Amino acid sequence: MAEKRQFQAIKGVRDILPPESALWNRVEQTAREVFGTFGFSEIRLPIFEQTELFARSVGQETDIVSKEMYTFVDRSLDVPPDPKIGEFPGYVQAIERLMESGSIPNDETNRGTLKFVKDWVQELFPFGEKTVEEYAEKLLHLSYAINDFQLGDRVSMRPEATASVVRAYIQHGMQTLPGNVKLYYMGPMFRRERPQKGRYRQFYQIGAEALGPSDAPGIDAEVIEMLLAFFERLKLKGAVLHINSIGDKNCRPAYVERLRAELQVVREQLGADSQRRIETNPLRVLDSKLEHEQGIIEKLPRIADHLCAECRAHYDEVKRQLGLRGITYQKNWRLVRGLDYYMRTTFEITAPGLGSQNAVCGGGRYDGLVELLGGPATTKGIGFAIGTDRLVLSLQESGAGEVAGGPARPAGGLDVYLAWFGAAAQPAAVGLARRLRDAGFVVELPAVEMKFGKSLGLADRLKARHAVILGEDELAAGVVAVKRLADGTQQKLAESELFSYLRAAPAASD
Ligand code: ATP
Ligand code: MG
Repeated sequence: MAEKRQFQAIKGVRDILPPESALWNRVEQTAREVFGTFGFSEIRLPIFEQTELFARSVGQETDIVSKEMYTFVDRSLDVPPDPKIGEFPGYVQAIERLMESGSIPNDETNRGTLKFVKDWVQELFPFGEKTVEEYAEKLLHLSYAINDFQLGDRVSMRPEATASVVRAYIQHGMQTLPGNVKLYYMGPMFRRERPQKGRYRQFYQIGAEALGPSDAPGIDAEVIEMLLAFFERLKLKGAVLHINSIGDKNCRPAYVERLRAELQVVREQLGADSQRRIETNPLRVLDSKLEHEQGIIEKLPRIADHLCAECRAHYDEVKRQLGLRGITYQKNWRLVRGLDYYMRTTFEITAPGLGSQNAVCGGGRYDGLVELLGGPATTKGIGFAIGTDRLVLSLQESGAGEVAGGPARPAGGLDVYLAWFGAAAQPAAVGLARRLRDAGFVVELPAVEMKFGKSLGLADRLKARHAVILGEDELAAGVVAVKRLADGTQQKLAESELFSYLRAAPAASD
């Protein structure tokens, strides 16, 4: 008999259970409604993409790509099953053919493996006089080498979705659509991070992207306005908008060099991460949360003093456009974002109740990304991604996480427990349950007949608002008995009266 075993969700991933899932639905539904009024439509994207897509866009040197992605080698369906020893020569021939036809990668790694493996196969096969034992060690090495073949594309679970949106924009030729292409998405993302409050390995984002020929600062401001309108509709309290401009390819490289030079001077006083970033990504040092680095970072050169005229004008106009929308913000020169594709406007929204993981949303402009991924150089873009887990957490912490399930009931609340007694009552109960549900009431119908006391006891424990009782007497009289469980009042009603009675009943939350 198989060993008894209980399974647990993998570290860093979690189940979202009722009643919390109702809050998630409300959040997502509100996003659909608010974003819809700004002319955004939903795009549904694949969960995995070619690894190369993220490496190119998010950036090879970022934490996300260098260590956080869940990456695996796919296996082409044309690859034969793993070979037994005697099948090695035939298997290697099959692999060579698949490389030639492009079904599996014909890259340097696979070509190297192929050459090595073919030499060994030639030396060892056929066995002839010798026995398998005499070759044992060499065959073991050969089987390891055969394992090195990359039997399909390298793919990754998406760590974010902007790259996918841009890939889809290019793939479907959306640059020919009129005006700005405005898309939103929602769903899970995957990053191998150290799990803690507000930080998971499977987490969720709601994001939006505006792509098109214009980079007008009014677009930046409107995207931010939409985001804040969404938070307002949810009654999120204490959200703070932080903004910055990180320049473009004309002015940022010079600033980054200057920053790097200054960082070299203070190198010895910095922690290991920041020391490494001096070479790989100096801007990210500004993002450091290490206590002892704060004083050093405050004295570093600031990008705002090194923007080119165009970037400065763009940033000034973004701020003016935010102002005319009545949006208040904090300028934060250290807001750089951890992804390579951002330029000019960057922004972040923090919310209370989240501890050190207090960013609920990050976003910015990424004008070069479409071109970088093979699309038209004329397409500009800006977008944001909200961390849904953190948004929900903040709503719950501030008491804005209650969900009413509609005009007449709290979420998950049960309007009617339909207790039936006697075999003849069951078909009538099934029919009535269906008519009640069609009318929008939440109904629990016992699947098997129960004793009266037990049935009504369950109705209580399920916190039903009403027990509707249908026994053979009621059936004969063409009525049902309705008991209001809050105060025990009971009366007999015809079906038509039952519906209006239930509709008029005050909601449990009132
Ligand atoms: P952080 O600085 O918190 O690591 P980030 O800069 O990596 O965030 P982005 O890649 O910009 O985050 O993603 C946008 C939003 O997604 C973040 O503001 C955050 O709310 C959320 N987020 C990012 N990583 C996680 C995670 N591992 N778990 C939960 N939410 C996350
Ligand atoms: Mg992060």
